[in-house]
Amino acid sequence: MVLAPTVQLRSGARLPLLGLGTWPLNDAEAADTVDLAIRTGYRLIDTAENYRNETGVGEGIRRSGVPREELFITTKFNREHHSRDGARRAFETSCALLGLEYVDLLLVHWPNPGQGRHVEAVEGIAALLEEGLVRAVGTSNYKPAHLQQVIDAGIVPDVNQIQLDPQRPRIVERAFHNEHGIVTEAWSPLGQGGGLLDEPAVTAIAEAHGRTPAQVVLRWHVQQGMVAIPKSAHPERLAQNLDVFDFELSGAELAAVYTLDSGRADVVDSDDFGH
Ligand code: NDP
Repeated sequence: MVLAPTVQLRSGARLPLLGLGTWPLNDAEAADTVDLAIRTGYRLIDTAENYRNETGVGEGIRRSGVPREELFITTKFNREHHSRDGARRAFETSCALLGLEYVDLLLVHWPNPGQGRHVEAVEGIAALLEEGLVRAVGTSNYKPAHLQQVIDAGIVPDVNQIQLDPQRPRIVERAFHNEHGIVTEAWSPLGQGGGLLDEPAVTAIAEAHGRTPAQVVLRWHVQQGMVAIPKSAHPERLAQNLDVFDFELSGAELAAVYTLDSGRADVVDSDDFGH
């Protein structure tokens, strides 16, 4: 069974480089998929208040029979909880739905800077870390400017989860994260399984290595130290997506994948959008 290598976070916790995304699975689908994924070797599971599937994720965790301490469970909370008390209430609600005593990583799902409480929301998570109720502090969709405000308040998040794939490689954001020791986690790492996987730059490398296009894209992420959380509900895809730790892309192959950077402006703008 393949287990993903881990990266050490600032908090000391170790985050697997490859995990399972659970959006848009409903509770029943999440229970089946999480159970299967854990039995396949996944140890990192990504859910959110907003996905409305935390009950199913918890059910899948219990069904798998794998001890809680071997798993790394991530959840996220919405904008109405952007305060110190709100973060605590959101944490308690998620734990109750998941049937867990703690989560490994709690994320502010979107900064919603217009609301002006994106720093306070992170402070709320940092307080939970101090009490040992979470093992790492996270943000999602925070731009460098938002992160800088958090850092200026004295907290450096462990992880920032952002939209990232070869067509949207987010070079500037990754450089900022690296400068501060923040681990970059990619959401929609396969570009939601669309045309990216048919791009000749990807399929040619896949053929050369006897791998699938999805494996090439996921290898591109993890080989550069990014954490990827692809979603699949299919057993064979779940297995192949995790099986990316026994081959290597050459420098030329990494560069070839970077030619897909479209310079697109279609990254979701977290100054405007968020829940
Ligand atoms: P992904 O890039 O993970 O793509 C998922 C799609 O790709 C699905 O349609 C899936 O289909 C397909 N797919 C998966 N594996 C393969 C494969 N090996 N070959 C071909 N197709 C494949 O996109 P998501 O948007 O699902 O993002 C992943 C996770 O990121 C989410 O599940 C969620 O946990 C998180 N997320 C976080 C956000 C945030 O704001 N923080 C926003 C959006 C997502 P199938 O299931 O049929 O296999």
